Amino acid sequence: MSEPLVVVGNGMAATRLVEELTKIAQGRYAIAVIGDEPRLAYNRVLLSSVLAGETASHDIELRPASWWRDRGVTLKYGCLATEIDVGRRELKIANEESIAFSRLVLATGSTPLRLKVPGADLAGVHTFRDSRDVDLLLTLAAQKKRVVVVGGGLLGLEAAYGLAKAGAAVTLVHLMDRLMERQLDMPAAELLRSLVERKGIKVLLNANTACLHGETRVDGVELSDGRRIDADAVIFAAGIRPNVVLAKDAGIPVNRGIVVDDVMQTGAPDIFALGECAEHRGNCYGLVEPAYEQARVLAQHLAGGAASYSGSVVATNLKVSGVSVFSAGDFMGAQGTETIVLNDARGGTYKKLVISDGRLTGVVLVGDVGDALWYLELIRSRQPIARIRKDMMFGRSLVIRSEAA
Ligand SMILES: Cc1cc2nc3c(=O)[nH]c(=O)nc-3n(C[C@H](O)[C@H](O)[C@H](O)COP(=O)(O)OP(=O)(O)OC[C@H]3O[C@@H](n4cnc5c(N)ncnc54)[C@H](O)[C@@H]3O)c2cc1C
Repeated sequence: MSEPLVVVGNGMAATRLVEELTKIAQGRYAIAVIGDEPRLAYNRVLLSSVLAGETASHDIELRPASWWRDRGVTLKYGCLATEIDVGRRELKIANEESIAFSRLVLATGSTPLRLKVPGADLAGVHTFRDSRDVDLLLTLAAQKKRVVVVGGGLLGLEAAYGLAKAGAAVTLVHLMDRLMERQLDMPAAELLRSLVERKGIKVLLNANTACLHGETRVDGVELSDGRRIDADAVIFAAGIRPNVVLAKDAGIPVNRGIVVDDVMQTGAPDIFALGECAEHRGNCYGLVEPAYEQARVLAQHLAGGAASYSGSVVATNLKVSGVSVFSAGDFMGAQGTETIVLNDARGGTYKKLVISDGRLTGVVLVGDVGDALWYLELIRSRQPIARIRKDMMFGRSLVIRSEAA
């Protein structure tokens, strides 16, 4: 008889896990997926494109209902899991009967952070995480509202771009001295700022949000230096926090995320975690690729095979059309590394390669990102680059031509 395997969360990590597991061990488990969003799992990454009007919301579904059905998966969406009884191996679901498991997987993702400033709970203050948020933001934009986006990372930039493109007057405020400081060095961030401003978005750097004004509804943002920005709505895009509530309440060890080992097992027997809710060797990843790598390993493990996850080299892509940005690995260049830089601010191109011990360890690209995946592969494979070093900056095709000559 199939063992009951319950997955909490109907997001990107959960979907990939089911895909990998049913490929190698169809029938071994009776799988149930419990998700609280009221629709089939979708590609969350594409929410930015939906907001920007470049993709339709119904086109981002990861798999149709028939796909789940064909794999025998019991799918419950619009259902919130509320409690894990570790001893009895039962999961409680709001307004429903508990469900028994022999193995449980937590794939609960993250929740967006709301700054703890006065006024943060006023009406008109929103976040950008799921498709309900996107519907709301599109309504604001259609009404030509003045919107302040708080946060100049990937998410904030994509929210600002989508809102501006849909008709809102957007100001982006960012605490740091440069945009995307976790992925870009100063020259790249400066170039990005100028490209973003050309899209009609006002960017304020070194801008610390002190409080939000308004009676019941937000009408402005005050910065700690006294500047005030009038606003009909405010979007917090200032970070995420792994969603660990279920695990924590059940006594499963958590730090920032749910602590897992190299097969994604938590501190409780037969309970696993993956994706944004998990913390592996001190790292919580906020990106899809690590979640997919974890899904592959966990599926192998659940199928009885040997597999081990040792962490991911992450890469970031900004999805703002006409503004191509890519960053991976040690993009700043730690002490003892060498850098090769091409900076054409006027032409809108910046390239930086970081080299350590004869290997590529980091890359930043703005403008021309055509060779991004090639650079990423060089970083991940750790192959020696002495032979291609002099041509590497100019891209893969030049390297191939030089090698052929
Ligand atoms: C707008 C946007 C753009 C992004 N762009 C990129 C990008 O360009 N590149 C990239 O790599 N990453 C990007 N990301 C991040 C990426 O989407 C996440 O890393 C990925 O979705 C993580 O997958 P996950 O399954 O761990 O979490 P999620 O996809 O968030 O899925 C978790 C699911 O669990 C559900 N859940 C939580 N608790 C419960 C509960 N108790 N009961 C039932 N269900 C529950 C949640 O509602 C959610 O549906 C972006 C994210 C956003 C919001």
